[in-house]
Amino acid sequence: MARRKRTRTEAAAQAKVARAIRSGRLTPQPCEVCGHTPAVAHHDSYDRPLDVRWLCRRHHRLHHNEVDHPTYEAQAASNVARWQPRLTELLPLVQRLARAGVTQKETARLLGVAQTTVSEWLHRYGR
Ligand SMILES: [Zn+2]
Ligand SMILES: [Zn+2]
Repeated sequence: MARRKRTRTEAAAQAKVARAIRSGRLTPQPCEVCGHTPAVAHHDSYDRPLDVRWLCRRHHRLHHNEVDHPTYEAQAASNVARWQPRLTELLPLVQRLARAGVTQKETARLLGVAQTTVSEWLHRYGR
């Protein structure tokens, strides 16, 4: 439902962009990241259909991957939240294992937590 609505809004915004280009109100620009042409009009918000950023196919895809998928940081933060109750219990152990030279992967396996959790804890609280 929400998805279909967004798609319709997106189509409407793209149609406005196409009209604006035909009438000369909007001029296609090279990709703002790498300068490649042609670039597609990307909307940060469909509420402002003529407020676009020009991105080549590659950077457009990369941009959407960043926007649509949680970044590593966000993922790590959510892991931390999930494991917060066990933090006091496990952190000293994680730190001891790290100091002993056990890899984060192995530590994660031993303790049954995600590797991102181990690396986030060590990053945040030190060894
Ligand atoms: Zn580009
Ligand atoms: Zn886009």
